[in-house]
Amino acid sequence: MREFEYLRANTLKEACSLLSEYKEEAKILAGGQSLLTLLKMDMLRPSYLIDIKFIPELNYMDFDEKEGLKMGALTTHRAVEKSPLLKEKFPVLPETELVVASVQTRNWGTIGGTLVHADPIGDIAPTLIVLDSKAKFTSVNGERTISLTELFVDFFATVIEEDEILCEIQIPTLPAHTGVAYQKFSTIEAGIKIAGAASLISLEDGICKDAKIALSAVAPVPIRALKAEEMLRGKPVDDKLIEQAAQIASTEADPVTDMHATDEYRGELVKVLVRRATKTALERAKTT
Ligand SMILES: Cc1cc2nc3c(=O)[nH]c(=O)nc-3n(C[C@H](O)[C@H](O)[C@H](O)COP(=O)(O)OP(=O)(O)OC[C@H]3O[C@@H](n4cnc5c(N)ncnc54)[C@H](O)[C@@H]3O)c2cc1C
Repeated sequence: MREFEYLRANTLKEACSLLSEYKEEAKILAGGQSLLTLLKMDMLRPSYLIDIKFIPELNYMDFDEKEGLKMGALTTHRAVEKSPLLKEKFPVLPETELVVASVQTRNWGTIGGTLVHADPIGDIAPTLIVLDSKAKFTSVNGERTISLTELFVDFFATVIEEDEILCEIQIPTLPAHTGVAYQKFSTIEAGIKIAGAASLISLEDGICKDAKIALSAVAPVPIRALKAEEMLRGKPVDDKLIEQAAQIASTEADPVTDMHATDEYRGELVKVLVRRATKTALERAKTT
């Protein structure tokens, strides 16, 4: 590993000021689960690491029915998995975290880190996308908030500017009669994901008022299956319609062939995972 200077920031203001000073020469260090691997592989050569892990103002969960959920970027996967608040208000989040990596990685890895790392196989992004989440960035120049669907631009690339820190994830309160589910397929437990799908269904008088489907590991970035969603909206949803939507979703994916699976296999998996996630989301919508 190349030498670098380690700088620990104790406040968000301090972290922003260090980042503004060193810009492309610096990298933010949160849990280090992805970053340290890249450093060891000599794929990144920062002169400065700005450690934000110990900034208390980036580590919180606040919920209010009107404002929804606000989660600091340093919230770990494990904190999401174990949170009684999230189990009650957004049970799909702890459920998604249960299939992320190992307990060791979940203990250190953060929500902010996984989103900025932007690995297309990341599990939490599709779930956050169907929940209509937003990401808030801070820099010495101020703040900006974007929809999570705008965050990812390519494999391991986001719209974050070099002087910005992802500081908060915002999730609106779920409407009544809304169910959400996430499905992932890996060849081994906690192994590299071959494909993933998250679905959200909102019902009103038995009719699908809203549907959101997000796919991961089947395109350079997590994507919405917009045509499949459209097929579900405004109709009474049954198994036949879900099957049709799942077929359409697989045509919206753009998977690659790699050492883990062929593009064709990934396309077939999308059908299966969208069908399972949407059926579960529908059942949950009927009982909430
Ligand atoms: C063995 C292993 C298995 C894994 N399996 C899975 C899995 O099954 N599913 C899954 O989804 N993920 C998996 N991961 C990825 C894991 O979720 C991420 O490594 C972790 O969440 C990244 O968070 P971190 O805090 O460690 O980020 P870091 O490694 O510290 O940082 C990652 C990147 O984000 C930047 N960054 C971090 N925080 C911020 C911020 N707040 N603002 C701006 N930039 C920031 C860093 O500069 C760096 O570029 C696995 C990782 C490992 C090591």
